[in-house]
Formats: sequence, structure tokens, C-alpha cells
Amino acid sequence: MDQRTLGMLTKAGALALLLGIGLVLLTGCAREPEPAPETGVEPADVVLLNGGIYTVDAQRSWAEAAAVRDRVFIAVGSNADIKPLVGRDTWVIDLAGRMALPGFHDAHVHPTMGGYALRGCNLEGLDSVEAIVEKVTACALDMDEGWLEGHAFDLSLFGQDGPNKSLLDAVSMTRPIILWASDGHNAWANSVALELAGITADTADPPLGVIERDADGSPSGTLRETAQEIVRAAIPKPTLESNVQALRAGIEHLNSCGVTSFIDAWVGLEDYQSYQAIERAGGLTARVVTSLTYESGFAKHYGDEFDRVLAGRREYASERINHDSVKLFLDGVLEGETAALVEPYVGMHGKRGDLILEPEALKAAVTRFDAMGLQVHMHAIGDRAVRAGLDAIEAARKVNGRSDNRHHISHLQLIHIDDIERFGALDTAANFQALWAWPDAWITELNLPVVGEERVQGMYPIASVARAGGRLVGGSDWNVSSANPLDAIETAVRRQDAFAAGGATLNENERVSLAAMIDAYTINAAWLMHHEDQVGSIEVGKRAVIVVLDRNLFDHPATAINEAQVVMTLFEGEAVWSAMPAENDFNQND
Ligand SMILES: [Zn+2]
Repeated sequence: MDQRTLGMLTKAGALALLLGIGLVLLTGCAREPEPAPETGVEPADVVLLNGGIYTVDAQRSWAEAAAVRDRVFIAVGSNADIKPLVGRDTWVIDLAGRMALPGFHDAHVHPTMGGYALRGCNLEGLDSVEAIVEKVTACALDMDEGWLEGHAFDLSLFGQDGPNKSLLDAVSMTRPIILWASDGHNAWANSVALELAGITADTADPPLGVIERDADGSPSGTLRETAQEIVRAAIPKPTLESNVQALRAGIEHLNSCGVTSFIDAWVGLEDYQSYQAIERAGGLTARVVTSLTYESGFAKHYGDEFDRVLAGRREYASERINHDSVKLFLDGVLEGETAALVEPYVGMHGKRGDLILEPEALKAAVTRFDAMGLQVHMHAIGDRAVRAGLDAIEAARKVNGRSDNRHHISHLQLIHIDDIERFGALDTAANFQALWAWPDAWITELNLPVVGEERVQGMYPIASVARAGGRLVGGSDWNVSSANPLDAIETAVRRQDAFAAGGATLNENERVSLAAMIDAYTINAAWLMHHEDQVGSIEVGKRAVIVVLDRNLFDHPATAINEAQVVMTLFEGEAVWSAMPAENDFNQND
């Protein structure tokens, strides 16, 4: 929000500028109606002029200007329609031809984890083992005593066995170090961390987890899936205050990417408390749905405690915060072969990966949550997990009838061809992390050898699901990967590396249009969050939530989509992020 000050002017300066612009308007467009508060029209609080506003209304129409009063759009149309609503105290934003669209929705994100990474030892994007070790060494010097946690390292830099503790022992033999991989499913510990967690050569693998071993049987330092939780349990629990600080940093980052609504995909009671604390302090600058984790090794609450937290959720809810969602992990990931496949992994003696919940238990859980009016949000990577998820929703429908709970499945790396059309038929949103849909090292180095070429070509079948009538929504899974929706949108449109001009393509038949991806990140995800009547498009009566980009995405080649910059994010009529040049920002209220 500091950038906001860049765009602010002193009152005198603003008036002077306004007068200057007023003269230009008079000479350039003499017949345009002047601000006319004397007509009795109540002026707007905020007005945006001279834009290319992509409204995402039913006709996908474009507008030039929009006006906001009391946090909602009161008019959307041409400059001539809107100018009469400019009064003396109206904040006038000159879009100067820039593109504006509804604030982005991120349908699967981890803002607290992301905030911790931003504020702590952030390993995101480091592309060599040396760079990671160098950064961790610097963090060890910089950061307070005690556990050193590093976030979002790239597991694909290491072989099938994962990284070894010896590299981190070289950084410190006295201080516990734990690095979390960007995929959320793998961790890398040094010897002190393993010792404090009580992990030795004699420790058995936990259910649904793997402790990788050196040749002598001692833990190697790589911990997969639930094995990570053994270390997590040994780390002192963060305070509410530090969670709140991290969450604030996470939301600020999302706002800077144009995100104004999101689904927090992994929460417990502590997160309910963080959101409430931020809202009570008046600082919640997004609309949120949270998914309370159920069962599996990843849940924050189990058994009776889960039921108690779920039953008490409304106490922490508000108009902006909706906790009516439950998260179920159905399987793991392809790396380490913890994803559940219909056909076996290649060269793994028939291994197909495990479902976290047996199909009957999953059906019972989904049926129960559906009957309670809850949205079910599932993690599924392998095609057998996706099928189990769809089967469970179908089973719930049979018992409960059709609900309006709007269930969804996230990730969807592999969907069996027979299941593609079931997303539409079961009205289950396909929540893709489209940034992963190109042949990166994860796919070519780690996945290809264990699933084979045919299944690689079928990965992330975004266009197939859309063609079969499925509803697409977009999510970043930040801080697993970039929070910038434009990175994911570009990847979905090109199926190539969004940070390069060309390169290898992951099945061009699965490319989708820019318009389809904007829908996924706006109106479709607004539907998923049950607030499409409030946000998701720029229409009279809806909340004034807008992202301004420095260029019109439709006027540039697809390779330029993620070169566009977010210039301003408005949340209910207020700038929660701005890099708008001063000459376009006439905020007379300041
Ligand atoms: Zn996630």
C-alpha cells in the first residue's frame, strides 16, 4: 500500500492538476458534458474514465467508464454517461486507455504460508542446489536463534531420492533446519532437526508417509507427505500474532497481483482466528472462503475436535468471510508416487499409489458434509483420486438430492478420459492450477519416467473439461507456485513456459482462450465462492472491485499476457494496491 502514496497528491496539487486537465478537456472535447452536481444528481465517490473495461457481464461487453458510490457500481458505460456523476469530492481515475476487469479470484491458495515465506527464508524460484544452500546459509546468519525454516524450495533440482541432510549439516550442526518444498508434500531436514523430531534409523514410516533413507538405513533428510508432520510437531507453534502478520503479508501480496477474492485451501481454528482478527482491525481487503482440512495426515484437527471447530465456524464468519467449506485430501503427488492412479506406475511392480480415504469412507464423508450444506473442496492429482472424488459427489447426490453446495476438485493433473464429462454432469468445478500445465522439469524429469508419455500428454486436460461442459476455475496454489493469475492464464492459453517466448508445448489441443481463463479467474470462481451476485463482474449493483492492468490483454500476443502489470487494485471502491502514475490519479479526498 506504500505505492499508493506515489499516486497521491496534495489537495492543492490535485486541484491544480485537475484544473489543468479540465482546460484540456474543454479545448479537446468542448461538447462533453461538464460535471453538473447542480442537476441534483448525487455525485459518485469514485469514477473511472477513458478505459477499456472488460465487464465480464453476460454479454462479455466492454465499457469506457464506471462510477462507484457507497462501495458499489452505480453506473457502467461511456465517458458521457459517467462524467455527470463527477462531483467536487469524487476521486477520478483516468485509466488512459488501460484495461480494467473484475478483481481476480484465486480459488486455491495458502496466504498464511505464503506470508511466512515472504517474511522469512524464501527459497521460491532459486534454480540451483548451490543457490538454495547459499540462501539458507545467509538466513542462518540473519535470523533469530532456534528453528530455521525455509520455504518453497524446488524439489525437481534433486533426483528421485530427494535432497540429503549432509548439505544442510554443512550449514549448521547445532541449529535445527527444515526446508519445505514448494509442492507442500516434501521436506528437507538437517541432522539436528531429525534428532529433535526423534526420527532415527529405527523410526518406521508413518501411514501415508515416507522417510527416505541413506544406504546405512539412517534417515537421509527427505521426508515425504505425513512424515513431514513428525518434524512439524517438534517446532514450537506460532502465536496468533505471528500468524496474523503472515496472513496480512499474504493478502497484501495477493492484492498486489489483482486478487480480491480467494479460497484458503488449508485451514484450522487458528486461521479462523487470524481472519477474524484482521477483519476486526479493519484490514481485511479481500473476500474469503476457507476450507477446513478433514482427516488425512494433513488435517489441523481430528475426530471430536474437528467436529467442534466445524460446528463453531459461524462465530468467525462475516459478510466477507465464509467458512462453509471442508478440504479433503484424496491422494498425494506423482513425485514420490503418492498420487493414486487407475493404471500402475511405470516400472514400479504394479504400484498404483494409495487413496487417503477408502472410496466408501470418502462417499460417507462427502455425503455427510453435503447434507450439512458445506462445500467440499478436494485435492486430487491422480486419475483414480479424481474418479473417487466424482464418485463420492455422485453418491452424495443420490442420498441428498441436488444441492447448491458447489463442490470442486483441485489440481487434476490426470483425469481419466471416461471421467472428463462428469465435471459438467455433476456440476463440479474443475479447479486447475494452470501454471503447471507446461512441460517443466517436474513433468519431464520426475513424472515422465513414472507415468509414461501417453499420460503426460493427457495432463491438465483443461480444454477437454471445458468442451465437455465443465466449469473451469483458476487457482495459484501459492506459495507452491506464483500467485500472479496472469502467469497461470498465459500458461493455459499457450501450454508453454510463460516466462519464455517459445519452447516445448504440453499438448496444444488442451489450449484454452484468454476469455475462458478470465472467466475462470472472475465470474466462474465467484460462483464457486457463492458470491457471484456481489462480485465477479463489473455491473451496476455489484461491489466495486476492479483490477487495472497497464495494457489490454486482448490487443497483445499470448506471450505477453504475463508481462502486463497490475497498476491498481480497487476493493469495494478503495485502492488496496496502486502503482498508478500521479498524472492519472486525481484523489481530491486526500
Ligand atoms: Zn494447495
